[in-house]
Amino acid sequence: MDITDIKHEALELNEEMTKWRRFFHRHPETGFQLPRTKEFLQEKLTELGLNITGNYAESGLAAVVKGELRAENKRTLAIRADMDALNLQEETDKEYVSQESGKMHACGHDAHMAMALGAAKILQQNRDQFAGRVKFIFQPAEEIGQGAEAMLAEGVFQEEPVPDAVLGCHIGSLWSLPSGKVGYRKGPLMAAADMIEIKIKGKGGHGAVPHTAVDAIVTGAEVVSALQKIVSRKISPLDSVVISIGEFNAGSAFNIIAEEAHISGTVRTLNEDIRKRLPEMIEDVLEGVCLEMGADYELEYTYGPPVLENDSDFTEFFVELATEMLGEENVVEIPNPTMGGEDMAYFLQQVPGTFFGVGSMNLEKETDYPHHNPKFDIDEEVLWIGSALFVATALNWL
Ligand SMILES: [Zn+2]
Ligand SMILES: [Zn+2]
Repeated sequence: MDITDIKHEALELNEEMTKWRRFFHRHPETGFQLPRTKEFLQEKLTELGLNITGNYAESGLAAVVKGELRAENKRTLAIRADMDALNLQEETDKEYVSQESGKMHACGHDAHMAMALGAAKILQQNRDQFAGRVKFIFQPAEEIGQGAEAMLAEGVFQEEPVPDAVLGCHIGSLWSLPSGKVGYRKGPLMAAADMIEIKIKGKGGHGAVPHTAVDAIVTGAEVVSALQKIVSRKISPLDSVVISIGEFNAGSAFNIIAEEAHISGTVRTLNEDIRKRLPEMIEDVLEGVCLEMGADYELEYTYGPPVLENDSDFTEFFVELATEMLGEENVVEIPNPTMGGEDMAYFLQQVPGTFFGVGSMNLEKETDYPHHNPKFDIDEEVLWIGSALFVATALNWL
């Protein structure tokens, strides 16, 4: 099976993949609870002849295609697709609009599952063409950054067949890729995404006599602005760090000095060494400001997905295949990493591999809305691309 055959088989499957994608799109589920999505996958995978080798993290599963070629060194390639949707009310008038009120596949994970199913079908039908194993990993709870870690904790990368490399993709308008183009990047592609939660504890009092109280709002406001100085004054301008405060809650009435303030935010980094230094830098700011104001504080720093790091050699290998299939003009290097997080990073921490972009921005089809927007949609005509690239990488790498 050469690249042209793979392309043809995937193109022929585009219609069926579209149907699968629309099923998922009509029935979005969120977080770890994805019973209907899982049932559909189980049914299809079994129908295609794959062996379901394990259930993980409530709704996640692994299914395997066994290559039949003889070889001394049999390897396993994992192909990962995330499964979850978002808590968002869809605002499109497409015939496949979400049937679940307040839930929507607004990130394209519906397409990821369809492309993986398509690849499973082609590989299963051509298992005499390769040695080793392809392990399909369907993962819940990507949007909350917890699914990959949970599946790993339950042994998905320890149980046979143990993956030697991992492949995944993201469809959509991320990286501004037009329909038909594929994006890649060696090294860091997406940021580590951590969360901070801060509680400022002051002393409540009458608004008229501030000197008898400890104002949690003034302290909190000081903390918010002082935190911005970490990025501007303490991190090299050549390194990328984001600290964004998204919540600030305090106070109960206009003339009462607030006793407590609750602040939360996100911390994004592209470098593990800097990431490790941040909790202390944040704590220093809190300590300093609170000391000055006479307030106490609590800080909770929660680590989210790490930096998503693509292996250079594996990415190079992938790019050659993609170029052969799609032509040089359609395989573009993503110049800079994005500060968005993606829990595929946990899998890429375990084994080498690559996470690539499948562009689906098309102005005429109105598929250029940003991810997580209520009008988000994908260009279904590119589903074959993700699928064909999964298959080509599997066949050539195994
Ligand atoms: Zn998303
Ligand atoms: Zn996503």
